[in-house]
Amino acid sequence: MAYNVTLIPGDGIGPEVTEAARRVLEETGVAFHWDLAYAGADVMDKYGTPLPESVLESVRKNKVALKGPITTPVGSGFRSVNVALRKELDLYACVRPCKTYPGVPSHYRDVDIIVVRENTEDLYAGIEFEKGTPEAAKLIRLITETKRGNVREDSGFSLKMISETGSRRVVRFAFEYARTYKRKKVTALHKANIMKFSDGLFLAVAREVAQEYHDIEFEDRIIDNMAMQLVKRPQQFDIIVAPNLYGDIISDLCAGLVGGLGVAPGANVGDGIAVFEPAHGSAPKYAGQNKVNPMAVMLSGVMMLRYLGETGAADKLEEAIAGVIAEGKSVTYDMKQDNSQGVGTPQVANAVIERLGD
Ligand code: NAD
Repeated sequence: MAYNVTLIPGDGIGPEVTEAARRVLEETGVAFHWDLAYAGADVMDKYGTPLPESVLESVRKNKVALKGPITTPVGSGFRSVNVALRKELDLYACVRPCKTYPGVPSHYRDVDIIVVRENTEDLYAGIEFEKGTPEAAKLIRLITETKRGNVREDSGFSLKMISETGSRRVVRFAFEYARTYKRKKVTALHKANIMKFSDGLFLAVAREVAQEYHDIEFEDRIIDNMAMQLVKRPQQFDIIVAPNLYGDIISDLCAGLVGGLGVAPGANVGDGIAVFEPAHGSAPKYAGQNKVNPMAVMLSGVMMLRYLGETGAADKLEEAIAGVIAEGKSVTYDMKQDNSQGVGTPQVANAVIERLGD
C-alpha cells in the first residue's frame, strides 16, 4: 500500500531540500504517492494568495504532509503561510526533537530532548491593538477603571491568552508522546510567579494532567532558570512542554545545542493530522545554489515514518543519516568542523541512499 502524502516544496531553499528528502524516503522501501501542493511567494501571481485553498484541501484529505519552508515578507506583503496552515488545520502541538549525532559540530554530547510547543495561542494569537487607536484607548480605560494598573497613553498591546483547553490538549499530547516513545520525564515551562492568570493556568493544568500519568516523571521550571539549566546541563531534560512563546525560543536554543538549524527537524500535529517540516526557514540568500543541508527535512521525514507506524524504515533512515554525519565526508558546509566547503544538497541525498542500500 502506498501512503498518500501532501508534498509542499515551499520557496527559497524549500524545493531543493524537500526533493532531497523525497528521494531518500522513496529508498526506504515504503511506498508513497506524493500529492504536490504549491504554496508561498512563488504562487502569489498565479493564484492571488500564497496559500491556495487546494493546498489545505490536500492536507485535510491526506492527513499527512511533508513541507519545505515558506518565506514571510517582513513589514508588508502577505501574512505568514506557516502560521495560517497551523491555524486552519488546528495543528496545536509543534514537536521539535533536538538530538546530538556524533560528528555534528556542537559543544555538547548526548543531548536528546523533545520540545513540545503549544502552537495556537499565547502572545502569538495575533490579537493586537496599535498605539493611538480608539481600541487601544478603550483598553487603557478598562485597565484604569478596573484598577489593574497605570498604562501610558502611548502604549501598543499584544495580548497574551492561555486557555485551559489549549493547555490541557498540548500537555496531554506531551505525556502521550512520552508514553508512545518510551520517554521518562516531562518538564513544563512557565513564568507563573509573575503571570499568574496565564502561565499560572498553564502550570495548574499541567500538574493536573500529570496526575493521569504516574508512569512518567513530571517537573516544572521557570523559563529564565530553564534557559540557564539548558546551557549548563541539557542532558537532564527529556520532553519539554511549553506555551507558544517560550517554546519557540527554547526550541531554537535546543537546536543550537545540537549543531544548528541544518539538523533540526519538526512536526506540527493536530488530532489525526500532521505536517512535518524542518525548523529552519527559506534562507533566501542560498536559494537555487543547492548547497544547504537537507538533513533537517530528511529527519522530519524520519518523524513522519514513525508517525505512520513505519518504525523499521524510520530507524533505517535515521541510521543512514547518522552514518553520513559521522563519516563527515558527504556533508554540507554547515557541518564542516574545518570551515571547508562541503558537498551540495543532492550529494548528501546520494550518500544517504548509498547507506540505505548497504
Ligand atoms: P532561516 O532559517 O531561513 O535562515 C537563517 C540562516 O540559517 C541562514 O542564513 C543559513 O545560514 C542557516 N540555515 C538555515 N537553513 C539551513 C540549512 N538547511 N542548511 C544550512 N544552513 C541553514 O531563517 P531566516 O533568515 O530568519 O528566515 C528566512 C525566511 O524564512 C523568512 O521569511 C522567515 O519568515 C521564513 N521562515 C519560515 C519558516 C517555515 O516555513 N516554517 C520557519 C522559519 C522562518
